[in-house]
Amino acid sequence: MTSDIAATRRPAPHVHRRPGLPAAVRVYEVGPRDGLQAETTVVPTSAKAEFCRRLVAAGVTELELTSFVSPRWIPQLADAGELLAELELPGDIRQVVLAPNRRGLDRALAAGATELAVFVSATETFADKNLHTTVDGALDSARPVVDGAGAHGLASRAYISMAFGDPWEGAVDTGTVADIAERLFDMGVDSISLGDTIGVATPGHVHDLLDTLFARGVRPESVAVHFHDTYGQALANVYAALTAGITEFDSAAGGLGRCPYAAGATGNLATEDLVWMLHGLGITTGIDLDALTATSRWMAGVLGRPSPSRVVTALASTS
Ligand code: MG
Repeated sequence: MTSDIAATRRPAPHVHRRPGLPAAVRVYEVGPRDGLQAETTVVPTSAKAEFCRRLVAAGVTELELTSFVSPRWIPQLADAGELLAELELPGDIRQVVLAPNRRGLDRALAAGATELAVFVSATETFADKNLHTTVDGALDSARPVVDGAGAHGLASRAYISMAFGDPWEGAVDTGTVADIAERLFDMGVDSISLGDTIGVATPGHVHDLLDTLFARGVRPESVAVHFHDTYGQALANVYAALTAGITEFDSAAGGLGRCPYAAGATGNLATEDLVWMLHGLGITTGIDLDALTATSRWMAGVLGRPSPSRVVTALASTS
């Protein structure tokens, strides 16, 4: 029996390309920020830095590192400045930090941030409960960050949270999201990320929202999608977005991240699950799946619980 096991191939996706899909896409890794921010166990700065270095060694080139949010709101990320000081990533790695307001911008610039992300909400209830403001108030807070980034020659990226639905207001109208997107682009953001914060999007909804944005002149190159796997829809939604022309996909190594407003414990789409599908379609990501999986297993050890990623689990059982 052991000889049969020894002869088993290392699992890898079988490649079948589809016409019309891009040759390469950007995988935007949110594990260090979005993934860790909801963890109640504070991860040491040195472990966060090691996580980022391992991700880069695995081929990740787009990273959201941390957030310069008030430490009172997210104690896990209180070490944002220290993390940037400790990290010395290569200059060709896209290194994004979240800055919720002018104070966060000042801290981010002082720490040497090279791209800024801001956060707004598609719904009034989420703006109130999570950002302690209104939809307009969140846009007002984002403006000085976007202006400051531009003044320093840095790009800015805006998340629209609850872009598909929220737990209080239900489905979110695509026109409402498009209105907010237009205001963000008018403000000067370089790109938006459509956040399915509680994981309720389905592929038809993804097409409807993207069609609404494109009809208003938004270019696919300036839109990223950020799916959560709460109801098992994340990869189907990615495929819908791919066929619509989207080329930037947010995900977290090992599926890190929990949303306190979402049912169940599942969080961000796992980068491994995303990369498995992309590589199966013959789409280049630059990521080494085995090295990434090893990184997620290492982080699972730091956090003391297994990764929810299907690919991490499947590959772990064969190694
Ligand atoms: Mg997320």
